[in-house]
Amino acid sequence: MGNTLRVTVVNCGSMTFDRSVVMTGASGDITIPTAAYIIEHPRHGLILFDTGLNYHGADPEEADVYWGRGLRDALGCSMERDQAIDRQLDKLGYQLADVRVVVLSHMHFDHAGGMCHFPNATFVIQKKELQYAWWPDEFSKGVYFYNDYRETRNYRFVQLNGDVDLFHDGTVRLIATPGHSPGHQSMLLQLKNRGPLLLGADAAHLQDAYRTFSCMPFDWSIESATETYHRIRQLSLAQVEVVFSHDPDDYDRLPHDGEWAD
Ligand SMILES: [Zn+2]
Repeated sequence: MGNTLRVTVVNCGSMTFDRSVVMTGASGDITIPTAAYIIEHPRHGLILFDTGLNYHGADPEEADVYWGRGLRDALGCSMERDQAIDRQLDKLGYQLADVRVVVLSHMHFDHAGGMCHFPNATFVIQKKELQYAWWPDEFSKGVYFYNDYRETRNYRFVQLNGDVDLFHDGTVRLIATPGHSPGHQSMLLQLKNRGPLLLGADAAHLQDAYRTFSCMPFDWSIESATETYHRIRQLSLAQVEVVFSHDPDDYDRLPHDGEWAD
């Protein structure tokens, strides 16, 4: 590890579908990345923010069993095995055991899919989200894949209620940004050269949606999502750079695949 905080983003599998899936009322095909962020902290080692799609998603037959029949096609998923988070870490020269802390923005299938690779890490998540994933409302069941976390009951979790300064040094803050899901959280990094960077995860799916206060069909609460937009706007006002996990332009703009922002 170097002596400055740094972050790179990787794409754990793309999905192609109609824009209306990620922004109510929009139309036309869009291909979106599934971002996971790999962060090196000078004192606290390797941290992940989200874990992407499960590796079974790379194989149509395995995906039929793990995700459910036909879902891979329905999601327009075009994932290669090498895109799963375990291989992404390997490509960057890390061992899975190097990951000490895994922060989950929320537990939808495209964020919690790689939990299985880190049985010895500490997971940091909002308590509300953890509980909701285990017993979601009917309308949310389709985006929480029980197979992603059925084996994780004995994992180590730090369950949060609201905002924290993760390492008590101002470098990595977690900010409650509910709406897309009940316990959704974002990560605010304090980078020396690039400045403050908010990893907004799925607080919005596209910059366009954030700009226009648009929601998406799978949002848990439009009211909470709207309050979260205002919360993020306050950060924008304070010159914090804001990126979202599924915005293709955000992915391109951030140093990715082993190019680092510091
Ligand atoms: Zn997502």
